[in-house]
Formats: sequence, structure tokens, C-alpha cells
Amino acid sequence: MPDSAKLDALIVGAGFSGLYMLHKLRQEGFSAQVVEAGSGVGGTWFWNRYPGARCDIPSLEYSYSFDPQLEQEWEWTERYAAQGEILSYLDHVADRYDLRRDIAFDTRVTAAHWDEATSRWQVETDTGGSFDVQFLILATGALSEPKMPDLPGLEKFEGKVLHTAKWDDSVDLKGKTVCHFGTGSSGIQAVAAMSEYVGHLTVFQRTPSYAVPANNRPLEDGEQEAAKATYREKRDVARHSPLGFAAPPMPGSAKTFAPAALKERLEQAWNAGTTGLLNAFEDLLFDETSNELAAKFARGKIADAVRDPDDARKLTPDYPLGSRRLCSEIGFYDALNRDNVELVDVREEKVVDITAHAVITDKASYAADAIVLATGFDACVGAVLAIDIRGRGGQQIGEEWANGPRAFLGLTVSGFPNMFAITGPGSPSVLSNVVVSIEQHVEWVARCLCDMRASGKRVIEADADAEQEWMRHVDEVAQTTLFPRADSWYKGRTRDGRDVFMPYVGGVGAYRAKCDEIAAAGYEGFALS
Ligand code: FAD
Repeated sequence: MPDSAKLDALIVGAGFSGLYMLHKLRQEGFSAQVVEAGSGVGGTWFWNRYPGARCDIPSLEYSYSFDPQLEQEWEWTERYAAQGEILSYLDHVADRYDLRRDIAFDTRVTAAHWDEATSRWQVETDTGGSFDVQFLILATGALSEPKMPDLPGLEKFEGKVLHTAKWDDSVDLKGKTVCHFGTGSSGIQAVAAMSEYVGHLTVFQRTPSYAVPANNRPLEDGEQEAAKATYREKRDVARHSPLGFAAPPMPGSAKTFAPAALKERLEQAWNAGTTGLLNAFEDLLFDETSNELAAKFARGKIADAVRDPDDARKLTPDYPLGSRRLCSEIGFYDALNRDNVELVDVREEKVVDITAHAVITDKASYAADAIVLATGFDACVGAVLAIDIRGRGGQQIGEEWANGPRAFLGLTVSGFPNMFAITGPGSPSVLSNVVVSIEQHVEWVARCLCDMRASGKRVIEADADAEQEWMRHVDEVAQTTLFPRADSWYKGRTRDGRDVFMPYVGGVGAYRAKCDEIAAAGYEGFALS
């Protein structure tokens, strides 16, 4: 595909978001292309090839719903699909809808400047390409810009350094001595998988996670067919639910349950995985007492699972359950019981240096042939800020967001006309089944472009007041929940040192209704010309 063109829309990124956006715009008769930094489609599932990588929402739900035929014909093999299977699915989607012919691979968008004279975006790539487009659609991913930790001396290390989000399949860690940093979702999965074949694994933990057994298993005969028989109904429930799951939260508060009934409800929720536990009580993420009852139960499970009481203590979180991303585990706590695995809490034992072959703390030295970094992402904003985006008057997005990202509906930014961010900051994005949120954004953007074409409008831009009011609302809703209680990547940090809670916690269903209401009211809160 040529990496220069004059188009209606340029889409940046070929993950779940970019693939569906391209398909949708083509269907609606727009000229559109995708630019993707990687050499294949898949986004998250292309890059995150670390051992143990898999989704933590059941595959039958963590998949597209836009085409009933696609959802009927694709066969998932396990309850939670591994990275390779999700990548095969997205490869299948790209082939099925003949998307590749409009995707420039191995090409990174480096700059996008709004041209006042033509009311179009001028976009540049690292391959020397340029695009002249009416609409710029950032499908760059909320978790796609890897975060490197600030580890003193890392540059001196002579072994292999691997980030989970940029995994190099060709590196063989079998029998090696590995130092691993990070115990969030990816870290937990990688530790469990690597513990089975590395020689020795030292796990450096900063913040412990609550991790729920995935109880992953092959889908049984007839199970998938039965689920597919009611797929439409289930998808509809997910679209209008708080978190984008096919099962709504269970009614009631933990506070009102007698001890035996409470235990029974929590055991049931625990065995249903992360989605089950988050749905255990309708007030779980809002009420401190109710949350603490569930958190205490989860802490008890960690104490039962981990043999060494000191390790169990280090692995026990003290923040509300679900206020940081709830993790799904397959053998993580078992891994920490193994003789070849040891745990270091960096809050008690500070990393002071890294030498050619070891990680040095203020208490000991840990040998390493390789270092694995499961240190996450510059979440929600990193991939957008990595592009030199300039809106009206040459204003740079990084400067505009220096005191916290702002985006009306998490979709559009005042001063940056005709630019849309799929799952941008201020939308449910990472606080939901992300595919459900992606489909909603893609469909809203496509509708918006169709409405503009029908009414002869060429430019859409968020009002600064509407945007400010939306971000105030995002913060206000977050403050009614327990999310701000934890130090998490859901929060961004402003230049003046304030925390900003980035995703919208008001619920996938409520958010959808708000977006639809705004569109139906002639794009209230936007200026159209
Ligand atoms: P991505 O998949 O991140 O794709 C963005 C693409 O944009 C990337 O391919 C990137 O290379 C490209 N790109 C970025 N900047 C540029 C540029 N300047 N130029 C060109 N290309 C660019 N969500 C869930 O709901 N459930 C889960 O179980 C779940 N598990 C996850 C597990 C892991 C390990 C990770 C990292 C995330 C997980 N997520 C999960 C979140 C996941 O990111 C989303 O579900 C979804 O895959 C995001 O799709 P996307 O297309 O929006 O972004």
C-alpha cells in the first residue's frame, strides 16, 4: 500500500480499533487507510508475545460483535484465549474483510498538523510518506506505549533486557537466571509461565496485585454452541452494562449478607474469575465496607495459596479490591512456592544499581543472565503524545495535556478539529471489556462522519466549555468510587504534580446513552461548520 495519499480519513493503528474503523468507513463509502508501526495486524496481541500472555475476559465476550456471521463462524478453543489465538482471530478478521490492502505496515506516524487554510490534516510518517486527510482517527491503543522503569545502572547490564510488550520470541530463557520486574497483569502471567523453565527467577515487586484464579480450560463440547445460540442477547446486555460484561453485577451489598451467605457468594464469584469477582456485589467498587469484606476474602485466598508467610505478607494488597486492575492468574502463586523462584519487595529492599550481570539492592546481589520488564505502559495518553500532533494555531497536544488529558467524551479534543481518539482518556476504555468500548466508539465516529456528509459539514470540533464540563464530570464520578484510593496507572500525573483519573467510571451503558443523546441532538457540545 502506498504510504502517501489524499483521503477522507487516516486511521493510526491496526489493533481491534483500527481494523474495525477501516471496515466501517469503507462500508460507509469513505476513502480510508491505516498506518501501523508493526509488521502485522493485532496491536496489543501482535506486540505482547511474552510467555503466558492471554486475555482475562472470556474469549466469547472479548471479541467483535459487529458481524453476527463472524461471531458464529469463529471457534474459540479455550475459555480465555492465549495471545496467539487472539492474534489468529485478528488475522482472520483482516483477511475476511480484505483489510490488508489498505494498511501500510512497518510505518509509524510521526507528525500530524492541522492546516487552517484547507481544514485538513497533513500527516507524516517515518518512511517519508505523507497523507492529506479530512479526518485523523487515532486508534493508537490505551496500552501500547511501553513504560521503561527508572532502574539505576540498567544501561550497564550485558545480558538481554526484554519488555513484555516488545517481546523477542527468538530469546531462549530456558535454564537461565532471570530477574523480573513487575507484578501487574502481564507480570503475573509471565512469572507463572517462566517459572516452569528458567533456572532461577527473582521477582521484584513494587505493588502487590489481587489475582483471581482464571480456572482456564478448553471449551467443552456443546458449550460454545450453547453460548452462540443467545449471542445477540448477551452482546446487548454487555453494551448496556457497567463494565461491558455479558453478566450484570449481582444485586445486593456484601454488608447485608450473613457470614455463611457472604462466603458462598464470594466463593462463587471467585471461581468465576475477574469478571465474576468484579460483579460480586453491585456496590463493590463504591462502598468501602462492602469492598473490604470482599478484599478480606481475597487476602485470605492469598494466605492460603502461598506457603511462605513472609512472601504471603508481601503479596497481600492493602488497597480496595478492583481499584487497581484485578489480575487473572494461572499458577502465579504456585510459582512463588517453587524453589527456583524468590520474591523481593522493592519497598523494603531498594534496587540501588544494576551491573553487567546482577541486580544490586541495599541488602543483596541477585545474579541475572536476562532482565524481564513487566513495567506496563504510559497508559491512555502515551501513544498519542508520542506523535507531534498540532491543532489550531500550531498548538501541540503535549502542551495542551500537560495539566491532564482533556477530551470531550474521551473522543475529541477542543482545538484539534476532525480528530478522534478511539478509547481516549475520559471514555470507559480500560475500565471495561475494551472491545465493547472500541465498537461503540468506532460506530459513533462512523455515524458522525455520515451525518456530516449528509448535512454538508466539513469540520467538527469540541467546544472548550463542553470539554471542560465533561472532564469535570469524569473526575466527579471517579470520586464517588473507590478507584482513586489506589495508586494505579488509571491515574495520570500533571506537570504541577496533581493526579488525574483518566478513564470514565460512569459505566459503558450510561456512556453509550450519553454519546447517542449528543449525536441525536445535532452534536450538542460540538461546533460544526
Ligand atoms: P492496540 O491493540 O494497542 O493497537 C494500537 C496499535 O497502534 C498498535 O499496533 C501500535 O503499533 C499502533 N500505533 C501506535 N502509535 C502508532 C503510530 N504513531 N504510528 C503507527 N502505528 C501506531 N482488554 C480487555 O478488555 N480484556 C483483556 O483481557 C485485555 N488483556 C490485555 C492484555 C495485555 C497484555 C494488554 C497489553 C492489554 C490487554 N487489554 C485487554 C487491553 C487491550 O489493549 C485492548 O483490549 C485492545 O486490544 C486495544 O485495541 P486497540 O486497537 O485500541 O489498541
